Formats: sequence, structure tokens, C-alpha cells
Amino acid sequence: MAVTPTLPICCVCGQVSDGRAGASVEVEWTQLQTYLDRHRIDQNGIRLSHTYCPSCYKKQARVWQVPPTAPLST
Ligand SMILES: [Zn+2]
Repeated sequence: MAVTPTLPICCVCGQVSDGRAGASVEVEWTQLQTYLDRHRIDQNGIRLSHTYCPSCYKKQARVWQVPPTAPLST
């Protein structure tokens, strides 16, 4: 049985974390449709997990008055 990958999606700007974009340690944030096209997958083939991308997190961190450190360790 195929495992459905969970894809982190920013709940503010709607961009998804594309950790499979390359070997680089830098995680690329891209539009969901771009991600689906790039990896030739269907939206039904993934599960979305709501989070914040680094730039939206920084904005939210100011609102929440917490250190602007990205919540993702990847
Ligand atoms: Zn965002």
C-alpha cells in the first residue's frame, strides 16, 4: 500500500514546502499547483498539514511577540 506523504502548507500564503526540490539544505517554498506539476502528483495523493512558511512565520512572530525562528526544523 502506498504511503500518502504529508505536505506542509502555509496557512497564510498557501505555499508548500518542497523539501524534495534538490539536494540543497534550503527548503523551497512554492505554490501548491507548482509543486503538484513539478512532482506530477495529484492533490488527492498528498495530505496537507497546515503550518507557516518562514516569511509568514516571521510576520506572525512579531504579532505573537515570540522569537522569529521557523517552526520547522528541516
Ligand atoms: Zn506563507
